[in-house]
Amino acid sequence: MIEVEGLNKWYGDFHVLRDIDLTVAKGERIVICGPSGSGKSTLIRCLNHLEEHQQGRIVVDGVTMTQDVKRIEQIRRNVGMVFQHFNLFPHLSVLDNCCISQTWVQKKPRAEAEKTAMEFLERVRIADQARKYPGQLSGGQQQRVAIARALCMRPEVMLFDEPTSALDPEMIKEVLDVMVELARDGMTMLCVTHEMGFAKTVADRVIFMDQGQIIEQAPPETFFNHPESDRTKLFLSQIL
Ligand code: ATP
Ligand code: MG
Repeated sequence: MIEVEGLNKWYGDFHVLRDIDLTVAKGERIVICGPSGSGKSTLIRCLNHLEEHQQGRIVVDGVTMTQDVKRIEQIRRNVGMVFQHFNLFPHLSVLDNCCISQTWVQKKPRAEAEKTAMEFLERVRIADQARKYPGQLSGGQQQRVAIARALCMRPEVMLFDEPTSALDPEMIKEVLDVMVELARDGMTMLCVTHEMGFAKTVADRVIFMDQGQIIEQAPPETFFNHPESDRTKLFLSQIL
């Protein structure tokens, strides 16, 4: 589903991603963790060209990333993204947030878009809030809307960048529950998160990044109980 080979990226002189190789199979669930500034967000943002890379190859669902706008659009159609700060359109209702890409990008008739939107809002248990505006919802509710909005595009892959780290503790679970269900339904997922309970429950593989490199990757059982690298051990001792 995703192939990354020899990926290198610089911000000016700063070498932010170093020789990243990563293969994600269809249906695989990956958790990415690592210290602040290690390049986690940059890596997943490269996968749908929210960031440009300078070296290496990225292939998503058979499409090789280039500068070509059509290619980028083709890849983005297959990739849903959920951000730390929800990034909903504040001036649009929950329902409209979920419809706008369907009607503008996919050119679907409004009625069909609404039907899909309600289906996914139902699935994240927030259909009763469809007429409200994001500002009238709690953080956890907004994040569930953001997940529904991404799912409305029927992506092949979902990317999550610390989806629960801006939430109050009591709201984290309602978002994680939705993500766990999504994983159980077989969605291919890459999640940057420090929710290690989530990693243990659903991840097929946990990836540890530090200073722009993948230091270690293993199934959760091995990753948490028998980490190899000293940097991984240090990181785990700080967060667990
Ligand atoms: P966090 O856990 O804090 O979210 P991260 O692992 O997601 O960290 P990135 O956001 O990918 O880290 O950033 C990696 C490094 O690149 C950091 O040192 C950051 O300061 C730098 N960086 C990120 N975005 C830019 C940018 N637009 N221009 C210059 N440097 C940047
Ligand atoms: Mg980040």
